[in-house]
Amino acid sequence: MLHRLRSPRGRGPRPWPLLLLLVVVIVPTVGVLWFMLAAMDNERMAVRQRLIAAYRTQLAGVKSQLAASLQQQAATLDSRAADTSCAALFAAVVRSGEADSLICIGMVPGDEYPRHPTARRSSRDPQDSEWVAATRLERKGSFSRAAEDFSRIARQSSDDTRAARALQAQARCLSRAGRRDGALRALREDLSHPRYRAAADLQGRLIAPSALLLALQLIEDPEDEAFRLTATALRERLSDYGEPTLPAPQRRFLMRELQTLLPDAPSFDTLEAEDLAARFLALEETPTPSLLTRSGLDDLWQLTSPSGKVIALHTEAGLHERLVQTLAAMALPADTTAEILQPGADPDPAAIFVSFTAREPLTGWRLALRLDEQTEVDAVASRQIAVYLWTGVLMIVLIVAAALWVARAIERQLRSTRLKNDLVANVSHELKTPLASMRLLLDTLLEGPVLDVRLAREYLELISQENSRLSHLVENFLSFSRFERNQQTFERQEVTADSVVHAATAAAGERFSAPGCRLDVQIAPGLPRIYADPDAMVTVLLNLLDNAYKYSGDDKRIALRASAEPGQVSFAVRDNGIGLSSRERAKVFERFYQVDQDLAHHSRGCGLGLAIVRFIVRAHGGSVEVTSRPREGSTFTVKLPAADAGCVAPDQSPQEAVAG
Ligand code: ADP
Repeated sequence: MLHRLRSPRGRGPRPWPLLLLLVVVIVPTVGVLWFMLAAMDNERMAVRQRLIAAYRTQLAGVKSQLAASLQQQAATLDSRAADTSCAALFAAVVRSGEADSLICIGMVPGDEYPRHPTARRSSRDPQDSEWVAATRLERKGSFSRAAEDFSRIARQSSDDTRAARALQAQARCLSRAGRRDGALRALREDLSHPRYRAAADLQGRLIAPSALLLALQLIEDPEDEAFRLTATALRERLSDYGEPTLPAPQRRFLMRELQTLLPDAPSFDTLEAEDLAARFLALEETPTPSLLTRSGLDDLWQLTSPSGKVIALHTEAGLHERLVQTLAAMALPADTTAEILQPGADPDPAAIFVSFTAREPLTGWRLALRLDEQTEVDAVASRQIAVYLWTGVLMIVLIVAAALWVARAIERQLRSTRLKNDLVANVSHELKTPLASMRLLLDTLLEGPVLDVRLAREYLELISQENSRLSHLVENFLSFSRFERNQQTFERQEVTADSVVHAATAAAGERFSAPGCRLDVQIAPGLPRIYADPDAMVTVLLNLLDNAYKYSGDDKRIALRASAEPGQVSFAVRDNGIGLSSRERAKVFERFYQVDQDLAHHSRGCGLGLAIVRFIVRAHGGSVEVTSRPREGSTFTVKLPAADAGCVAPDQSPQEAVAG
């Protein structure tokens, strides 16, 4: 029990201060972190909401601009229709890619495209006797004679249409008569005369282009130069939307025919638009007053001009592309991209920041704003988040600092309580033994009937020895207690090493000069003075000498040497005693540490002597070390700064209290 109290090795770990520290630090830290994260999330959401509101307004502006752009397009169609023919407008709009097709009812009566003007259908075939006779001959199979009659009619007629129709009939009869060259001449040469450009047949079809197709069919051989020239002429005519206007159905028919006749099947940049318009016209929809509306055809939108006379037709994909181009030309907030989505298209919710479905005129279309990166949200949020973050970090640092401070205070308190307990236990035990032996000696003396002077002297000497040990013990306890409570003060002054050594050897007592013990004292000459409390330094040397005495065998050879080292004075106490192992050497300066407690008990130690030595030496700015080997003796060396080496801090007053 005593040993456990005396030795620090007997104490187990104390987990509860650590647990307390963990609870005091971790719980609030987790709380602060949670609060920080929640605050950061909230801030991000708030910033997001603010941006959504701002961007929604932007997007509404985008929608208005799109609507305005569509309105302007529609209005422009009207003004262009006033300046140009419908067919020319059709070709211009389609070729520029402004729309996929166009329906135009011109400002001038009869000017329509691609609807076929009804006026032309009213043409009548000539019914005079000459024409009737020629027609009869053709019906009877007299193709050559009929051809001659038609040729004559053509030559004599002053009416271009009648002449052209007669030439067409002549070519037909010559072809049927097997006179291919004559037929070709009529078709390629006679009918190519400019006066026949506007001549149309009974269905309103222009005769000249149809004649070219007939010529091609007669030539047959695509390698023929005449075939190539005729094909080129027809192709150019079909791509020409100038006056006289080729009726759309005839144009589409001729385009397709030419494509089948020519080996390379030429493409026409307006054919698709012609087909689209034809399909739209076939629906015969009543005009709608709305600017942009879905037509009766799947995926076809119609943009109607304010007058209702021009309708631009857009496929949904085409309209989408055009709207995207318009969007691209708009000024938008940095790092954002506006998108327009076709009706029914699903936006990617991860990429889209703000979106809404538009109303008139883009009914059903969805406008969306996409952030190229989350940079804007992050940039705005990160400023506020930084404030939260730093506040949180500061709070955590404060919590940790406060917890450490509390832990240190608790640890100090625990240490002092433990020390008190150890001291009480040790003091009571160590005092009891010498007091008991003194009482025994005195009782023995007092109990005898006669006082034997020799025995009395012997007993009194023993009592005196016990008394001095007791004083030494009490002195050590008191010093240690003062050190631990930081109440030890040193009265420093410049002293010589000699005086300290002499005072210590004098206080060591006569036992060092008794038989079986040799104390060798060597003081190097001219040692520098030291700045120290002489009494404290005597205590240091006395403790070391006392240990050397206690832990040496019967033949004790002890040496005390004082020597000079650069800037220092060294005091070394060497003995030939039991020595120390390396593990013991590392621990001997700890308080209450004793290598062999039985031996220590026998030699009346309490494990405080070397702790006191170290405390005093350190307080004087010096150091203490031990070199030793088991059974080969030990040397304890104390080094103190020399007074003239300037090692003493100038602000340290001689009365300064020593820190623990
Ligand atoms: P104590 O009062 O027990 O001597 P100290 O603090 O002076 O306490 O010494 C601590 C322990 O160091 C001693 O118990 C002893 O085991 C060991 N010790 C001290 N000085 C010597 C020495 N000169 N030779 C061998 N062991 C020593």
